[in-house]
Amino acid sequence: MSKQTHSFQAEVAQLLHLVTHSLYSNPEIFMRELVSNASDACDKLRFQALNDASLYGDQPNLEVRIAFDEQAKTITITDTGIGMSQAEAIEHLGTIAKSGTKAFVEQLSGDQKQDSQLIGQFGVGFYSGFIVADKISVESRRAGLPASEAVRWTSGGTGDFEVETITREARGTSVILHLRDDASEFLNGWKLKQLITKYSDHISLPILMEKEEWKDGENDQPGAMVKTGEWEAVNKASALWTRAKKDVTEEQYQEFYKAISNDYADPLTWSHNRVEGNTEYTQLLYIPGKAPFDLYHREKKAGVKLYVKRVFIMDDAEALLPGYLRFVKGVIDSADLPLNVSRELLQESRDVKLIRDGSVKRVLGMLEDLAKHDKHDAVEGADGVTDVVDADDKAKEGKYSQFYAEFGAVLKEGLGEDFANKERIAKLLRFASTTSDGVTVSLADYKARMKDGQEAIYYITADTLAAAKNSPQLEVFKKKGIEVLLMTDRVDEWALNYLTHFDGTPLQSVAKGAVDLGKLQDEAEKKAAEEAAEAFKPVLAQLKEALKDKAEDVRVTTRLVDSPACLVVTDDGMSQQLARMLKQAGQ
Ligand code: ADP
Ligand code: MG
Repeated sequence: MSKQTHSFQAEVAQLLHLVTHSLYSNPEIFMRELVSNASDACDKLRFQALNDASLYGDQPNLEVRIAFDEQAKTITITDTGIGMSQAEAIEHLGTIAKSGTKAFVEQLSGDQKQDSQLIGQFGVGFYSGFIVADKISVESRRAGLPASEAVRWTSGGTGDFEVETITREARGTSVILHLRDDASEFLNGWKLKQLITKYSDHISLPILMEKEEWKDGENDQPGAMVKTGEWEAVNKASALWTRAKKDVTEEQYQEFYKAISNDYADPLTWSHNRVEGNTEYTQLLYIPGKAPFDLYHREKKAGVKLYVKRVFIMDDAEALLPGYLRFVKGVIDSADLPLNVSRELLQESRDVKLIRDGSVKRVLGMLEDLAKHDKHDAVEGADGVTDVVDADDKAKEGKYSQFYAEFGAVLKEGLGEDFANKERIAKLLRFASTTSDGVTVSLADYKARMKDGQEAIYYITADTLAAAKNSPQLEVFKKKGIEVLLMTDRVDEWALNYLTHFDGTPLQSVAKGAVDLGKLQDEAEKKAAEEAAEAFKPVLAQLKEALKDKAEDVRVTTRLVDSPACLVVTDDGMSQQLARMLKQAGQ
């Protein structure tokens, strides 16, 4: 094939423009992205070779080599992974296949400042090479294809790229970055090693660099580092989760999180365990600090990668965690599942069920721990000495509030999705209320403050906090000083259907049916209500007749203090908010 020119898909061109114009602040991430692609390519080969060992050809080693050339101003990242055919190079390096990435690019506004913040939440993958390079060549030979069917892909990172056939002896891929003048700091062995240690130390393959030695200059020439021709691994080459906890630093855990999550910020917390028993597995699970932009996309899946005996099997293994924990990122490495396990098989596996139950417990445990330490007020004891707050506990302060603001609405889905853990989930919920500021009230707090004789936990749902607070349905509760939870998340209505009781106390919507305040109402009030109902009988009959197509019933009520009338639904009726939601959805 002679040279062919192709245009980038519009979304890619847009992404490239953004990469080259707004990602200066963190140029070094190109190394993480390209090494992670090299490592993915080796994982893919290893996986495909499970069924076809001939794919290895005469090169059994899976490894990544990083070389640089000061004269040519290039950095080359070479892997012995699966490689790409010509068609694959055109497709994978010219279009965006993943729906998530596509949706992300569609969200970009064209406003540089806003976009660079957005992109900060998102890995730009291969294209990050263009942060430091003004030209990239990719030379690749797909495992199983002959040397004469290799491909060279070249682009300057603007509108188009060129593809031609080449001959390449080795299987796998070389990515050659032609550095911009302002990126020459990366033409330095020490600097590159530092980046690998920082971003790629957890990678389970060896990452090799050529050894350098100091050579003194001759005839008054300055000395310099010279390459020795010998290659050495510069990473530990053991997958991070397989190491003992004590051998992994906090910073390494955080970097690993960033590598697997596309998040640039630190996680809130994580949990790393080896579980033995009925089924054996290692789990390393993280709670992110920020919601990804696609948290509510229909196809959004849990961010857990599945490995079997350290062999990568799949991303986003949704069978390992329920949907309401889809914000969790991490790795699960099973010792018992078969290597050829498919998504379908996962759904039915008994081992997977055990892993899933164990992982849900871990995640809820992490959240309970954050919740417990959310407000750790130092208490001054009787001796005037302030209690010493454990540094670890101190570091957890405020994290649950942060978590809840980002993911609370997702967690609520668990009430309807995970009956076995409903109680634990209910305890983790926080609400706004008529007597508190912010979204801080737990159901247990509420119960502890209930009035004598109060028999239910009262709540109201509305579209906004202001609408909830000013609802006439609250009047009698305000008058009697009864706290009412204010619920404004879209899922509340649905989720609360599944939570009829908390710790033995019923939850009661103030907008449903006749509010029976039971023992909170005194005899005189009850009598007045009955008398009013009698006296208004004729008026009610007229109103009922006039509203007969619109209202099911018209009643005298005790729930109002200042307002003349309000709408309510019957106990088994749909609430107004739910009805509005369904109407919006076109039902
Ligand atoms: P992602 O890695 O998230 O899929 P990237 O932009 O990093 O996105 O890479 C795009 C695609 O290009 C990859 O999915 C893969 O198919 C292909 N690719 C990139 N680098 C390599 C490589 N070194 N070897 C084989 N394929 C690669
Ligand atoms: Mg990638």
